[in-house]
Amino acid sequence: MHTELSNVHQPSSAVVTGAAKGIGAAIARKLVQDGFHVVAVDLDAIALDTLVASLNGNATSVVGDVGDWSTHERAADAAEAYAPLRGWVNNAGIDIVGGAHEVTPEHIERGLRVLQFGSMYGTAIAVRRMLPGQAGSIVNISSIQGIKAFPRYFTYQAAKAAVAMISKGVAVDYGPCGIRCNAVLPGSIETPMLDQTLPRGMSREDAIREQGKLAPLGRIGQPEEIANVVAFLLSDASSFINGAEIVADGGASARCFAYPTPAEIAPFTRS
Ligand code: NAP
Repeated sequence: MHTELSNVHQPSSAVVTGAAKGIGAAIARKLVQDGFHVVAVDLDAIALDTLVASLNGNATSVVGDVGDWSTHERAADAAEAYAPLRGWVNNAGIDIVGGAHEVTPEHIERGLRVLQFGSMYGTAIAVRRMLPGQAGSIVNISSIQGIKAFPRYFTYQAAKAAVAMISKGVAVDYGPCGIRCNAVLPGSIETPMLDQTLPRGMSREDAIREQGKLAPLGRIGQPEEIANVVAFLLSDASSFINGAEIVADGGASARCFAYPTPAEIAPFTRS
């Protein structure tokens, strides 16, 4: 018999990186709701303080760069000071744009340091800390850009593909020890990061609407819709899911071209 992720009703802690805003903040809030003590990690100390203050003593902040191994050690120590570490979410990321003809070694190193090394460091430390208890669930936030190419995302998409593969490797190596590891691949989600990529020359509202048309659901996603998936993966409800790549993109990556949908050809009417 194997030991699985313990019931969240028992005191458990979880680390969430990039938790000060966007998807990470939504994950931190949802995990606190689900009973975890959350260690929220970010570079942005002010936004982190605001988040932690809103979580009524159920969260602790660790200010640091995920590109530094020591940040993850400090986060793990802070989590274990509260309760056994049972969840770890490598979410911190940056949007880094540039095609192969544009990038410099510094650009590539900066992107990989945050997006790939950050997730690898976090995953490696999470595994080490979870092994003695033979239980835990790790989630790495990848992107649909890890499985589909987007223009001028040379570094970002390479790192996101790596993040999904790291998760599979850990799932295989440590599944026998009761540690699960999965990747979540979001599509366009309304966060501060998305604002940097919206089409120019129109209002933000129109730009969000235009971006939403890229998905068959006809809209972009909200951070809470990714947080729900992550919370599921950290719970016993997902106890047989290990090494999966879970896409949450409103169907954007399911189609090849933006063909007109039946609803656009002949709008359905509600009776
Ligand atoms: P966001 O709004 O920019 O929030 C990311 C947070 O991570 C920020 O608080 C940021 O701090 C922090 N951060 C950045 N670099 C860090 C570092 N080296 N160490 C510690 N913290 C760091 O981004 P998001 O949209 O929520 O994205 C979260 C994750 O989802 C990322 O991995 C992203 O690649 C992925 N994702 C996002 C989308 C989307 O459409 N939004 C789609 C697919 C995947 P600063 O603001 O101070 O830099």
